[in-house]
Amino acid sequence: MQTVYLDNNATTAVAPEVREAILPFLGELYGNPSSMHSFGGQVGNTVETARERMAALLGASPEEILFTSCGSESDNTAIWSALQTRPEKRHIITTRVEHPAILSVAQYWERQGYRLTLLSVDGKGRLDMDEYAAALSDDTALVSIMFANNEVGNIYPIQRMAEMARERGILFHTDAVQAVGKCPIDLGKLPVDMLSLSGHKLHAPKGIGVLYIRRGMRFRPLLRGGHQEGGRRAGTENVPYIAGLGVAAELAQQHMEEERQHVSRLRDRLEQGLLASIPHSMVNGDIENRLPNTTNIAFKNVEGEAILLMLDRLGICASSGSACTSGSLEPSHVLRAMGVPFTYAHGSVRLSLSRYTTESEVDYVLANFPKVIETLRAISPFKD
Ligand code: PLP
Repeated sequence: MQTVYLDNNATTAVAPEVREAILPFLGELYGNPSSMHSFGGQVGNTVETARERMAALLGASPEEILFTSCGSESDNTAIWSALQTRPEKRHIITTRVEHPAILSVAQYWERQGYRLTLLSVDGKGRLDMDEYAAALSDDTALVSIMFANNEVGNIYPIQRMAEMARERGILFHTDAVQAVGKCPIDLGKLPVDMLSLSGHKLHAPKGIGVLYIRRGMRFRPLLRGGHQEGGRRAGTENVPYIAGLGVAAELAQQHMEEERQHVSRLRDRLEQGLLASIPHSMVNGDIENRLPNTTNIAFKNVEGEAILLMLDRLGICASSGSACTSGSLEPSHVLRAMGVPFTYAHGSVRLSLSRYTTESEVDYVLANFPKVIETLRAISPFKD
């Protein structure tokens, strides 16, 4: 049975070019980049080349790139540093639709006595700019808004939101884990102070991330100890994965436009095909403004988990908009924040494509998906 992998917002395949770049550092090139000798030094050069490649993808300077262990660490570090460097400010702004790497950390700080504003979204997952403007205050230590949503793919107006924060002298962080490699980002023009990304969403391995920190910004490390990364993060660098991430960044930069066209064409064909062949289905999110590789489709009166299990038997990998919390299948916090009706939210499925998705894979899904919904609806306890 073939595997059709349509869960690229969860993680991506490591690109062969990235794997090639990693292997020497798991073999003969095992030096420590901090060593004084040239055996370590050659490894140090690789780290710096990767930093330059990542900086080039983002329109940043190499010294603004801090390597971390993952997107979650970058998000935690950004919040930590903002609060530590502005201790007199006691207010945080973020949104109801963030990834838990931001949302649960912001809620942690709320329990420590910070005031937290969670911006709401409308039925399409869009933010209200008036609500945002009203929330900004002299007491705000940090605004953190995701660049693109992992579940529905919505892209948020980061340019405008960051400008508004800057006008008030407020630090602005964006969780761009889902956007880097999929959307052009030029930090020369985008006035954000910090940006987080994760290697495994752009065809590098799991366990490597980046925090961009704008030059001149005050910063406090989360991990203390050695002087690696210019004293901004202790811990011997993950040289193999940093080397791989550098190559992944270069590939993303070289092929961004053609990949965007490739995935959006296939995504649109898939989405339109499913909507046309399956009654009572609709797209969740803002179709005018979303990631080119993502669709999140709600099927009325079916359970998302059941759809996923049946798709799995057909070799199709997808994600649902539900999270199994304490035994009950609750729709995800994102769909709940959007107010998607329960009968639809419950049966929502995210399909996310990559550069490796093919036309024939889309054909296979279009040929098999409608039967899955038909079968499940026939046995569904939910009826109109
Ligand atoms: N932020 C967003 C928007 C994500 O989608 C993810 C991963 O799914 C993360 C943060 C966390 O990244 P990592 O898995 O590298 O910790």
